[in-house]
Amino acid sequence: MSPEELLSVDVEKLWELQAVLSQLADRERAMSVKPEAFAEVDREFQSVNDEMVRLNQSLETLGKEHRRVEGELTDSQELLKKYQGTLMQVKNQQQYAAAWKEIDAARKHVKELEESALKTMSEIEGIQKQLDERKSSYDDLKARHDEAHAAWQASLGDLRSEAQALRKKADELEAALPAEERREFQRTFKQRGGIAVTRVINESCTSCRTRIRPALAQRLRRGEMVICEGCHRILYLEKTPV
Ligand SMILES: [Zn+2]
Repeated sequence: MSPEELLSVDVEKLWELQAVLSQLADRERAMSVKPEAFAEVDREFQSVNDEMVRLNQSLETLGKEHRRVEGELTDSQELLKKYQGTLMQVKNQQQYAAAWKEIDAARKHVKELEESALKTMSEIEGIQKQLDERKSSYDDLKARHDEAHAAWQASLGDLRSEAQALRKKADELEAALPAEERREFQRTFKQRGGIAVTRVINESCTSCRTRIRPALAQRLRRGEMVICEGCHRILYLEKTPV
């Protein structure tokens, strides 16, 4: 069905709902703005948190690498022992030379792995040190952060109760609307930047300046729901005082 076919509705109620929703949006916007006193400590806190997450991740990666190297080192040491054992059982010069070659290679490998294990260990210690340094100031920073956050939230008391009351009012108004009108309102409200209902002044839409054709103006005066032909918003004709 085309919007023009919508049933007559109390546009006054839609106008009121829109005003309430707009006031609610104002409060929500105001509540979402961090005051500088909190924003500053919050930035610092987030940055320290991010840094600690990053350091912990490095620590985990290095820990895994270290365990892998240690495991490989144990295997290589056992292999080396095995080769050293075979050295006792060689029967000729040729076998002796071959055994030594294996031992030599195994020793080299063990040495490489030992160096690698030392390197990851010292990297782990370095990162652990950085973490410990941050941890020592973390508690103090967190306390300052939480305090500033609580102060900000406390300062929102009035705004919050106003927003709650407006939300309740908007819900009541919406619930009282016929389903079709509610959908039309909500759809237009969302699509048209929070202005679903627009005033008519001097037979023109105040949102898009489109002139209201006489036939539509007549229906509007009868109290029917009329949609602007220019911007598709619901037209609202204020009752002129008699
Ligand atoms: Zn319009």
